[in-house]
Amino acid sequence: MSTQYSCDAIIIGGGPAGCAAAAVLAGHGLKALVLEREKFPRYHIGESLLPFNFYPLKRVGLLDKMRNSAFVHKHSVQFVSPSGKASQPFHFATRYSADVAQTWQVLRSEFDQMLMDNAREKGAEVREEITVSDLIQQAGRTLGVVAETKTGDRLEFRAPVTLDCSGREAVASVRNHWRVRDPQLNKVAVWTYYRGARRDPGLDAGATTVAYVPEKGWFWYIPQHEDMISVGVVAEGKYLTRDGVKDPQAIFHREVEQNAWIKEHLASGAPAAPYRITSEYSYRSRYGAADGLVLAGDAFGFLDPVFSSGVMFALKSGVLAGDAIAGAIKAADFSAAQFAAYTGTMREGMENMRKLVYAFYDQAFSFRALTNRYPEMAGEVTDCLSGDVNKDFSKLYAAVAEFASVPEPLPYGQPWLRAEAEPQPA
Ligand SMILES: Cc1cc2nc3c(=O)[nH]c(=O)nc-3n(C[C@H](O)[C@H](O)[C@H](O)COP(=O)(O)OP(=O)(O)OC[C@H]3O[C@@H](n4cnc5c(N)ncnc54)[C@H](O)[C@@H]3O)c2cc1C
Repeated sequence: MSTQYSCDAIIIGGGPAGCAAAAVLAGHGLKALVLEREKFPRYHIGESLLPFNFYPLKRVGLLDKMRNSAFVHKHSVQFVSPSGKASQPFHFATRYSADVAQTWQVLRSEFDQMLMDNAREKGAEVREEITVSDLIQQAGRTLGVVAETKTGDRLEFRAPVTLDCSGREAVASVRNHWRVRDPQLNKVAVWTYYRGARRDPGLDAGATTVAYVPEKGWFWYIPQHEDMISVGVVAEGKYLTRDGVKDPQAIFHREVEQNAWIKEHLASGAPAAPYRITSEYSYRSRYGAADGLVLAGDAFGFLDPVFSSGVMFALKSGVLAGDAIAGAIKAADFSAAQFAAYTGTMREGMENMRKLVYAFYDQAFSFRALTNRYPEMAGEVTDCLSGDVNKDFSKLYAAVAEFASVPEPLPYGQPWLRAEAEPQPA
């Protein structure tokens, strides 16, 4: 095995978190090396952006490219009852300036390629088709990674800090046995793509629609460019597989019958892609950093698709982790404690969003009932659901608690502070 490269930071994974971090590190004049398993462009789910993606996209210098892209403009979100009755669409411009209020429905293969190209343009080195198979660790400190090329060469890369942005693969938390499933969020998602399905007129043509099916299940309906619609259903596994049906296509079409709006909107279109299924995706890493190691994006944790928060958390954490690593390099201190502020910000944001996700799935809760009783909370709800997650929402959650049980924060995601003194949990 030969040692290659010396760089300031190794980044595992070239998705949104990894490429945002690489661009930020390059902006600090530091040498980031991204190791990405796939050859881009590659397929990925996660297509609806939140307004507060604006800030990390601005920070990495991608706004102009986004504005010149073919991505559908998203100005609003609406909710639809099983009978097909749609709520008034909520327009982000009623609360935010125009540049924040208009966001995008992206095709991830194109969006992620833009982020990767941007990281390279800024000066990061990105290597594709190389899979990180292990971390090099000694006495709790991460020293680098072992990776394998497509042709089977095993290479070792070392750097003072490794940033894990490997998405749901979660290289660091899986290898260290840190992955902890969310105690209650345990959903299954089934989805496909339609060509030629109906779009609403005018400003709402690019709206995200959340359309309910029984037992707090829901469809997403996301208009994309080239006349495509991303459409999927999310619910408890036992609901979706009732009657013993396991085939994703059969599940999907059975649930289409459960929502009149979805049925009508899909009627003029035709399925244009395979049916996909995923489950068990809500988890957090027990630790968000350790000596020489930082986690970001889905590798840190993933909540639930319902509020389209994944890419926002990925980009935001990539930017924040990039800055935290630049600070560590300046201080020549790569101990876990150096990353405490970063993990604290991520935990706070994820916990705020998580409380609303729990409320959403609570049979006793509805946003309408909440804002009817507390009209002054409407702005707070909007902020959290738009991705402005690092705020004091204590008044909001006191109000939510009158309708739904609000979960205690998970103790996970903090730095592993006593790496040498404390054995790792099994
Ligand atoms: C059903 C569903 C619907 C969703 N809908 C939305 C939505 O509408 N909006 C939204 O914002 N989010 C959504 N998400 C979440 C979103 O997909 C993720 O949160 C987001 O992609 C996370 O970005 P990331 O950079 O952390 O990871 P990823 O985008 O997964 O990127 C990780 C990269 O790491 C690479 N990699 C993995 N393992 C290795 C390895 N060992 N070595 C090298 N490279 C490796 C992968 O190839 C990949 O390119 C959804 C998720 C699900 C499950």
